[in-house]
Amino acid sequence: MISQKSFTLTSPISILPQVGTSLTKAFNSIGVFSVGDLLYNFPSRYMDFRKTVKIGEIEIGDTVTVLGTVRTIKANPIFRSRLSISEITIEDSTGKIKVVWFNQPYITKALSVGDEIILSGKVTLYKTAQFTNPAYEIIRQESNEEETLETGTLEHLHTGRLVPVYKKSELIPIRTMRRLVKLALPLAADFPDYLAGSSTTKKLNVIALSKAIENLHFPENDEDVNNARFRIALEDILPQQLAMEMQKELRSKNKTFKIKADIEKVKLFLTTLPFELTPSQKRAIWDIFLELETGKPMNRLLQGDVGSGKTMVAILAALQTAGNGFQTVVLAPTEILAKQHYETFLSVFGTPKSSQTTSGGIALLTRSFALIDGKVFTKEVVNAKLKSGAIKVCIGTHALLQGKSKFKNLALLVIDEQHRFGVAQRSLLLENKKVPHLLSMSATPIPRTLAMSLYADISVSTLSHLPSGRKPVGTFVVSENDREKAYDYIRGEVKSGHQAFVVTPRVEDTSLSEVRSVKKEFARLQSEVFPNLKLGLLYGKMKSADKDAIMAKMAEGNLDILVTTSVIEIGIDIPNATAMIIEGSERFGLAQLHQLRGRIGRNNLPSKCFLFTTEASHQEINRLQILSKVNDGFKLAELDLEERGFGDLFGKQQSGFSFRFPQFISVPALKTARQVAEEFTPKKLSLPKFSGLKTQAESYLKDLYAE
Ligand code: ADP
Ligand code: MG
Repeated sequence: MISQKSFTLTSPISILPQVGTSLTKAFNSIGVFSVGDLLYNFPSRYMDFRKTVKIGEIEIGDTVTVLGTVRTIKANPIFRSRLSISEITIEDSTGKIKVVWFNQPYITKALSVGDEIILSGKVTLYKTAQFTNPAYEIIRQESNEEETLETGTLEHLHTGRLVPVYKKSELIPIRTMRRLVKLALPLAADFPDYLAGSSTTKKLNVIALSKAIENLHFPENDEDVNNARFRIALEDILPQQLAMEMQKELRSKNKTFKIKADIEKVKLFLTTLPFELTPSQKRAIWDIFLELETGKPMNRLLQGDVGSGKTMVAILAALQTAGNGFQTVVLAPTEILAKQHYETFLSVFGTPKSSQTTSGGIALLTRSFALIDGKVFTKEVVNAKLKSGAIKVCIGTHALLQGKSKFKNLALLVIDEQHRFGVAQRSLLLENKKVPHLLSMSATPIPRTLAMSLYADISVSTLSHLPSGRKPVGTFVVSENDREKAYDYIRGEVKSGHQAFVVTPRVEDTSLSEVRSVKKEFARLQSEVFPNLKLGLLYGKMKSADKDAIMAKMAEGNLDILVTTSVIEIGIDIPNATAMIIEGSERFGLAQLHQLRGRIGRNNLPSKCFLFTTEASHQEINRLQILSKVNDGFKLAELDLEERGFGDLFGKQQSGFSFRFPQFISVPALKTARQVAEEFTPKKLSLPKFSGLKTQAESYLKDLYAE
């Protein structure tokens, strides 16, 4: 047997006993390369084998653990079949029970009559009570008085306890996995425990990192699991929080433009609008005005449900900026969205009545457009006018800040539906000169408590009211029997000149199959269901020019139905879309489903969303039913957070944050990590013992700014 000293956390996984080429490959395929990686590959769940009974007390249907002596062994390969059956009986002082394993012929070879073994599993009735395919552990072998590796310490790994189950490891026998983890576990103490000296974690009795790793793999009870998850969540969040602190520090060194609010002008402008602002729009605008005046760079997240009127808030901020003689840039994730914003800005800035309130000069500059105030120019002309300051508002995509454009006095940067705004921020931050105020807008509903802890450096405005008159999307959880009805509804809507979306299910394994599944559904719908309608296909992996072209077609009404994955840009406005089908909806969080359905019902037409499921349990159906009653994205996000944890709330794409263990992250963990981060002053963080943590935080910051 190999001694522990002969490997370290960074040793390749192949150094462990009995890990050969194929097992090494299997480990690598799940991201386990080193012994340290193995320890960080946590179980996804546990089997509860803690209930130990005497054989005489066994009841059918129970999941139990028994200890007994092997009395008979029979290996029964079935003739001309690949099925093999191993059958034994075991006995204790109270009785006997039959045990059967299918297709595990090595078991009969490993056991001898007289061996003492432990079994854990469910007891079923097959003529008599029996264990079928139970987990087993050999306690004492009749033939071998010496301890083997397997029985080594007599600490059970597979039976009689909470037994870890690891995800994504079909190619790695579960017993091997547990045995190797157990072998490597003493090395958990070698991971640096950055929280060891923290007063916050001491006060809260947060357990040590090594204990957390140990408890996650082999817990004694549920409390062990919870405490361990909490500790690992802190491990996961702390670098992110420190990155936020670093960003805050960077920003505080920057100066910015003072933008004075001209309230009279705002009032005059508001009279030109065909509607009254909602209370939360007013509140957000007021908060923004106050912050723009301070001379400190604003970094604000404006979040609001789809249709809550975020653009109008941005327009008012841009109006003030222009009124002070400064420039605004609005960045959208796609060209088509940029064009849409441009048209909105132009229509409100450009009305005769409001022209007295603005100085004009609204431009659109993207790969395929160069427009000023509705007229076509060359890119050179637009760039020249950006440099001279003649253009007050310029709308574009990210390319705008990465390209050649120079500005006279860019004072406000609005970023729509894009959390990964890093590129823009980085180029602006690191120059250490006057930087623009930043307003990011998002329809991803993040519960307020969460937003405050996540984005330490960001102030948050929330639009919680929908403009009045907006009808909620009628939402129906439907079964296969209703499929034709749903298709009929879409046919009817298209006939009345409306449009529809079909969203294909999220695929768990690879992105390749996601593409395959949306393509397949598209082909099926086009040929079998809607042969006479115009269908379009859209998915994330398409080239962005192709995506833009399809979205433009949809926006212009040249498609009846858009078949798409869930990755479609959420900001897009297709006011004419009134129907949506979501397949495999049980795989989505409520908040995400809410966002998806938010793409329809954007004008005052009644609209319907049909939620199909593939293999939903009763519980999941009930969860989905909530959508037919609740129409508040923030409430839905809170529910998701409570029920499904942080993991489902949003992915890296939407939050910009890549946590390793999002499923462990909770609001209390976020709050604690926030407090701990405050203990790490820059001076403390530069101590040699925290160099690893500092590196993590820095790479987090870099990652946040990566494209
Ligand atoms: P989102 O928050 O999804 O970006 P938009 O800004 O695109 O929403 O607004 C959606 C629609 O609502 C637009 O057509 C906009 O003109 C309209 N709108 C904005 N504010 C109000 C309001 N207070 N009352 C009525 N309609 C409004
Ligand atoms: Mg929008």
